[in-house]
Amino acid sequence: MTVLEPPSVQTIPPSAAAFRVTNPVTGALIGELPVHNSEAVAQAVRRARDAQPAWEALGVKGRMRCIDAFNRLLWARRDRIIEIIRRETGKTEGGAFTEVLVMDLETLYYKRHAARLLRRQWRTPAYPMANNAQVAYRPYGVVGLITPWNYPLLLGLCDAVQALIAGNAVVIKPSEVTPYTSLQVIEWMREAGLPDDVAQVVTGLGATGAALIDHVDYVSFTGSTATGRKVAVRCAERLIPCSLELGGKDPAIVTADADMDDAARCVLTGALENAGQACVSTERVYVEAAVYEPFMRALTDHAQRVVMSSGGGLGVHVGSMTNERELIRVEEQIAEAVAMGAKVIVGGKRRPDIGPLFFEPTILTDVTHDMRLMRDETFGPLIPVMRVESLDEAVKLANDSEYGLSAAIYSKNIREARRLARRIVAGDVTINHPMLTFATPGAPMGGAPGRQSGIGRRNGAEGLLRFVSPQTVTVDTGLVFAPHLSHTPPRVIAVARLMHHLRRWLPL
Ligand code: NAD
Repeated sequence: MTVLEPPSVQTIPPSAAAFRVTNPVTGALIGELPVHNSEAVAQAVRRARDAQPAWEALGVKGRMRCIDAFNRLLWARRDRIIEIIRRETGKTEGGAFTEVLVMDLETLYYKRHAARLLRRQWRTPAYPMANNAQVAYRPYGVVGLITPWNYPLLLGLCDAVQALIAGNAVVIKPSEVTPYTSLQVIEWMREAGLPDDVAQVVTGLGATGAALIDHVDYVSFTGSTATGRKVAVRCAERLIPCSLELGGKDPAIVTADADMDDAARCVLTGALENAGQACVSTERVYVEAAVYEPFMRALTDHAQRVVMSSGGGLGVHVGSMTNERELIRVEEQIAEAVAMGAKVIVGGKRRPDIGPLFFEPTILTDVTHDMRLMRDETFGPLIPVMRVESLDEAVKLANDSEYGLSAAIYSKNIREARRLARRIVAGDVTINHPMLTFATPGAPMGGAPGRQSGIGRRNGAEGLLRFVSPQTVTVDTGLVFAPHLSHTPPRVIAVARLMHHLRRWLPL
């Protein structure tokens, strides 16, 4: 395997330190990249700040044309980016392809809707005829994006694209585990016509991410809750806004009227997505007692057909884990649960014969909420299942978590399932298909209020509008009120009284 050179676009001067990126499947060195220090980060942000006004001046349609051209290039070169993603993460070919696919859906959505979402709006004035009010959505300037390793293309880029469409310049600090995907993509953005310095990448460890917060005007962070909290504190100190997409402990509820085969397949797909290393993967399952036995039969039956391999092809369901730290956490959670009475009924072991970080899809029963397996985030292919006596109990247990990112319901009665969804504390709920919101760029996703899964929303109108600040311009027409030394001269009071009465009858 060849060692990758940093793409030529990486013009930020390297600092003395460097870090190594390795392939999790083979252990081979992929390459070595500079750790950008605070000064290098400041320089990148300065260049982005200089480039931003011309980018904003292109208008949303001009910017969208560039993003669309980039997306077409990405699609045409998908085999290359899939290869880079897989080399950095060890994920399956299908998993890497999904990242390209969702980026394509996102571009298509904003191509249709961005101009309408960002256009200036007239608002109800204080007194019609006397004055008017217009709101314009202005970009913040430079958005810093700090991203994780589990979806290096999608999560490295989906927020960046939304920030760019909104008129900002962006500086991305990708995870030190998977930086080459972002570096490649930024090079292609330039090739597709994005002006120099409008989109840049700085590489490094946590300290590089922290330095980025010190210079940008807005931070979009995706990663763990622990780091997200530090990011939020620093943003608060600087009084700059941020959005935080953090961890999850997503429940799935299987109701008595669900199709058992479909529910079992969906639970497996939802839990094993990216070898379980997804913020919105299913991490705990609650099954109504009436169907517990047939569901478990279907689940274990379908689990036998799951294909785990380091090879390519769309027939592979589970690839390597990316991070040994997460694998060790998975093993610790299983060991603790078993010591407390849980049973492993499928899997439970590493598979060094396939690769150093492969772990078998693992189904556990007899689990309780005292176990860390049911409370802490699991980044691995674990499926703990609990029998519940009623849907009320299922909702109570589903909500018994410090997280509130996503949830899934399996049921044939969609009306009842929607009602159930409204009782679950989560930023999104999917019915009869796991992780569907994640692949729906028109709909917002993010953490529920009061929980530890984040602040703000990505995707949809909400995701785009987080990257702009509304600026209101109000105008006195001079038609009704002449300038006066007081805000409340007799004429204004007379008009105000009249309007107070008229407003009951007129649509003002
Ligand atoms: P992480 O928090 O360890 O790292 C995320 C990024 O933050 C990396 O680029 C890292 O270098 C940087 N960083 C580390 N310390 C920093 C600091 N002090 N200041 C600024 N930046 C710093 O997370 P990870 O292990 O890369 O990703 C896994 C986590 O991400 C999981 O908890 C997962 O649930 C979460 N995640 C959430 C979503 C979502 O949409 N809600 C999506 C994917 C992953």
